[in-house]
This record gives sequence, C-alpha cells and structure tokens, in this order.
Amino acid sequence: MPETSESDERNQREVWAREVVARLHDDHAPLTDGVPADYIPELADVDPDTFAISVAMVDGRRVGAGAGTHPFTIQSISKLLMYGLALETHGREAVMRRVGVAPTGDSFNAILLDEDDNRAPNPMVNAGAMAITDLVVGDSIGARVDVVRSLYERYLGRLPELDHHVWASEQATGNRNRAIAYLMLSRGIIEDRVEETLDLYFAQCSVLVTCDDLAMIGATLANHGVHPTTGEQVVAPEVVRDMLSVALTCGMYDYAGEWVFTVGIPAKSGVGGGILGILPGVGGLATFSPRLDQFGNSVRGVKVFEEFSAQFGLHLFDPGRPWRPSR
Ligand code: GLU
Repeated sequence: MPETSESDERNQREVWAREVVARLHDDHAPLTDGVPADYIPELADVDPDTFAISVAMVDGRRVGAGAGTHPFTIQSISKLLMYGLALETHGREAVMRRVGVAPTGDSFNAILLDEDDNRAPNPMVNAGAMAITDLVVGDSIGARVDVVRSLYERYLGRLPELDHHVWASEQATGNRNRAIAYLMLSRGIIEDRVEETLDLYFAQCSVLVTCDDLAMIGATLANHGVHPTTGEQVVAPEVVRDMLSVALTCGMYDYAGEWVFTVGIPAKSGVGGGILGILPGVGGLATFSPRLDQFGNSVRGVKVFEEFSAQFGLHLFDPGRPWRPSR
C-alpha cells in the first residue's frame, strides 16, 4: 500500500540520518580549531569541547549525537525569532520602516546604519536586532521580558530560563551595543527607552536553550510555523517566509555568501556556539560547539552543515534531476 511505502521510506531516511549524524559527530569531535567568544566575559567559561548535533523532522521524529540536552545561551539566534515576533505584531511595513533586509558585508556589531533609508540594515546584525527588540510591546522591562519568554515558550514547548550571569556580563560590558543603540535613538529609529531596550536585548540573547531545542525550532519553521509536537501555530507561514529569507541572506555573519554557496540552507548562528538550520518541509538541523572561527560561527558546526548538506543533497539549488519534455 502506498501509505506503508511512504512510512518505510521515512523510516529508512531516519536510519540513514542517524548513521550520518553519528559519523559526523565522531569525525569532527577531534577538531579543536577556533576559540569560544570571550568579548562577553561569561561566555569564555564554557567547556569548549561540548559538541552536539540534533535533527528534528517535521513529523516530530528526532535524531542526534553528543550533548543534545546541554544548555547554552541562544545569543544571536534569538534575532531570527524576534524578527518573526515583530513582523507578526506590527506588520511588514512598520518593521521595514525601521529595519531593511540588505546584507552588510560588515561585522555583526558594526556601528552602521542604512543612511539612505534611515534604518538599520537588516535584523540579523546588532543594530537591526536592537531596533526589533525596541518594538517589543510592554510598559516595563518585566512585562517585555515576559513577552519574549512566552515567545520562546511557544517554540520550545516550555518556559525557558535565562542565564543571569551572561545577562549581567553583557549589561556590564555591552558598550558597543550601547553606542549603536544611542546612534539609532539620535536618528529616531528607536524610542527613548534605550537602556531598557538594551537590557531586553541582552536578556533575549541570554536565554538558555539546548541543541535539541534548536532543532525543534528549525522543524517548526520548516513545518510552516506549526510546532511538530505541540501542534501549535507558533508563527504565521507568511512570516516564516520572511524569516527564512533573511536567514538565508544574512544569518551567518560575514560568512553568509560563502554559506549560501557551499551549504545552501537558511540558518542563523550565535556566538554562544549554536547554529540553527531550517530545511523547509523536511525539518531542523542544529549544532552546538563553542569554538568559533573569525566570523563568529562555530567551527565544527560549519563543517557538519557542509557535509550534511552535501550528503543529503540539501542545498537549496541542488541540481536534482531536470524535467525534460517527452518526445
Ligand atoms: N549578545 C551578543 C552581542 O550583542 C550577540 C552576538 C551574537 O551572537 O552574534 O554581542
């Protein structure tokens, strides 16, 4: 029966994914290139050897290897989820007035705005991310943190904890972000509650997630915004489309161009060491390993994504087989 053969095929794919994930974990565990981020002092304290690869399919199945349940701070991966929240709450037009969608080719924390349109360049660099955070509704920092936590709750299926040490560490040392935020205030891009918005931005980056969580977030986005196990519509499908578009073009820091070329999967990375990849209609792929390259991407993570994508033909423009007219 066709149903059986379809589920046989899915089972077969799961077995194959399990083998590939286990092999990629073994192959790349000895790789010790790169260093954990230390510009946020608390981040330097992580165990640099922790390593996880997690896959979650749109039907809720999971495959993984390594420390899939080890918690770490989500950092910039939060930017993607927050962008979705802003689009849903305020609509595309209002968001586009403050934040564009153009890749910058500059570092994620560049003190740089889109001068022509007086807005932040895109939501994946710090300027854009803070302009997006500014859009979180609420009349106190507590109320706004709750909005952010409940957004995460819908993606994770549980209310997340914050790493208060990392949060405090960013508050104490985040003067570059402060400079960007005040520049945006001077241009009227964000509102006059800058310290609160900075605090909220640091809080959203300090949320603790696991590699398994990231894979499930990816599966939710891959599943048109419907969470594979809770069944909740976490985010509208048209918003998912916008989120994945900026993930593809701007999600991997200055490495975004090479990433699209070699991996071809919409993804977002964070300086905590996580990478979240979305395979539309298929599932989420996530890695965690804190040693970073010069761009701020996890060294092992990039390698795993490259090989996983090649192994399963997951590049967005994978040649596949052409259609030919019958003669
Ligand atoms: N909280 C970090 C910062 O603003 C996030 C950076 C990142 O993960 O790219 O510097």
